[in-house]
Amino acid sequence: MIERTKEFPTLTIIRHPLVQHKLTIMRSRETPTKIFKELVDEIAMLMAYEATIDLSVEPLDVQTPLETMVGRHISGKKLTLVPILRAGLGMVDAMLELMPTAQVWHLGLFRDERTLRPVEYYNKLPDSAAVDLCLILDPMLATGGSATAAIDVLKRWGAVQPVRIKLLNLIAAPEGVRAVQEAHPDVPIYAAALDRQLNDKGYIMPGLGDAGDRQFGTGGS
Ligand code: URA
Repeated sequence: MIERTKEFPTLTIIRHPLVQHKLTIMRSRETPTKIFKELVDEIAMLMAYEATIDLSVEPLDVQTPLETMVGRHISGKKLTLVPILRAGLGMVDAMLELMPTAQVWHLGLFRDERTLRPVEYYNKLPDSAAVDLCLILDPMLATGGSATAAIDVLKRWGAVQPVRIKLLNLIAAPEGVRAVQEAHPDVPIYAAALDRQLNDKGYIMPGLGDAGDRQFGTGGS
C-alpha cells in the first residue's frame, strides 16, 4: 500500500497499516527507548520490503523433497546499507535480517553551525567495490542537507549508473524531500510519513522529536 504525490514524484509513502500503526506508537512522547528502538527495527524491515520490490530475480533449480522445480533467486546482487550516523544505525539490523549478505558502509555527517552545511566526519566506504544498490538509511529527512550530502559522497565515490541509490526515511518533511528531489531527481525516496513542516530549530512537525536521542536514550528527562 503506497502513495505518490504530484508535487514529489520521487517520493513513495508507505501507507501499510502495520507501518502506520507502529509509527504512531513511535511518535508518542510516552514511548520508552526500548520500545522505540524495537519499532525502528520493525518499520525498517517493513520498508525494506517495498524499497527492494524491483530487485531482479533469476531462475534457479531447486530440489524439493518431492521433485525438482525452478525457483527464483536474487543472484549476485551486491547490496549496500549506508546508515547516516548516528540515527541511521537503528535501521541496520532489521535490513541485515532480510539481506544478510549486504555490506554496511558507515557515513558520519554533522551540520556546521556557522555555514549550516553538512560536514563529513566519518566515512567507511571501501576504496572500491562492486555494488548494485545502495540504500541510505536515516530515520528523519528534515532539511535534506545530510541526505543530499550522503548522495553526493556516494556518487563521487562511484555509485553512478548502473548503480542505484535509494533513500529510506521513517518521516520526511516537505522541505527535505524538495531539496533532495532538486539535487538528485534520480534517487527514489521512501518514507512512512510526509509530515507538515520544519520548525525554526529544524525539527520535523509533528515528527517524533530527535530520532537519535530517542533511540539511544540521550534526550535527558
Ligand atoms: N532529526 C531528528 O532527529 N528529528 C527531527 O525532527 C529532525 C531531524
